[in-house]
Order: sequence, then C-alpha cells, then structure tokens
Amino acid sequence: MGLTLTLLLLRRTEGIFRASTQVEVYMSPYSTVVLAADLTEESTLLAERMKQIVGDSPCAVHIVHVIEPLSSAYGGDVPMDLSPVQDQIQDQAKTHLAEFGRQLGVPEAHQHLIFGRPQSEIQRVAEECEADLIVVGSHTRSGLARLLGSTANGVMDSAPCDVLAVHVGEG
Ligand code: AMP
Repeated sequence: MGLTLTLLLLRRTEGIFRASTQVEVYMSPYSTVVLAADLTEESTLLAERMKQIVGDSPCAVHIVHVIEPLSSAYGGDVPMDLSPVQDQIQDQAKTHLAEFGRQLGVPEAHQHLIFGRPQSEIQRVAEECEADLIVVGSHTRSGLARLLGSTANGVMDSAPCDVLAVHVGEG
C-alpha cells in the first residue's frame, strides 16, 4: 500500500551532473489517522500496525480513548453514588493515555479522552479531525458475543473513511 517515490540524487563532476544514488521513499496514502485505544496491551499492537502503514510519511495521529459512564451502564441498578469511582477511572485513564501518547510521540492536543459510547465517539472524532484512516482492534467472536456485535464492526459500518481492523485475538 502507499506510493513509492524514487529520488535520483545527482552528483556534479567536471561540470556535468551524473546519477549518483537512487533512494526509494515510501509515501503513505494517509495523512490523518485516528487510533482507537482501549488502553490495554492491544493498543500497542494497533500502534505497531499503524506505524507499518504510515512509515515515515508526515501524518497527524490522534488517539481516542472513550470512558463509558457508569451511570449509563449501572445507573438505576446500583443504589449508591458512583461518582468517586467514575473520577478514579477518569484519573487512571488520563494517566494511561498521556503515557501511551508520549510513547507514540502524539501531542497532548491530539489525545482525546471522551465520555460516551466508543463506537459513536470514535466516529465523531474521526469526522472532526477529517481523518482518512481509523485504526481499531478486532476480536474473533463466537456465540452471544458475535450476536452482540463489536466496536470494530460498528466503526466500520459508520466510518467516514478507511478503517484498519487489526486482529487482536479472541474476544
Ligand atoms: P471491542 O470489540 O469492544 O472489544 O473493542 C475492540 C477495539 O475497539 C479495541 O481494540 C479498540 O480499538 C476499540 N475500543 C474498544 N473500547 C474502546 C474505548 N473505550 N475507547 C477507545 N477505543 C475502544
């Protein structure tokens, strides 16, 4: 995938330019990538695949991590105030996202920590950044989990751009 440009380097000898070396430069077809990171070990695999696709081409990388509000998951079922737990989850996510972003050399302004549903927030950030590629993990699923669908499938169904679904194992 991508374009390969051949650069011909010229050397000047005795007033004449002669071909010296040919250098092949890989150009990725993508300029803005959104990496959907659940911040588990899988995110590192996604980052490796992304680097293989993008190579050394100039490319803006955005990382999205979505926190699903506990109130929407357990709201009416748990008779207690969930906000301290939610705050703790947010603090940990902030720290992990900052560390992951630092490892990838992604600036803070491109690290998105958002509350909501992963599928729709990943799509929204991709639209806002005018991404041309979303990188998301994909699990092999069977039984009920397969019927329930996955984040990767949801993202692929609604994405405004290409999606790289990286196989990350059983789910
Ligand atoms: P799932 O199918 O939900 O297990 O998730 C598969 C992939 O979806 C992960 O590898 C991530 O790329 C993405 N994903 C899932 N949850 C989140 C999240 N909370 N924030 C960002 N991306 C996520």
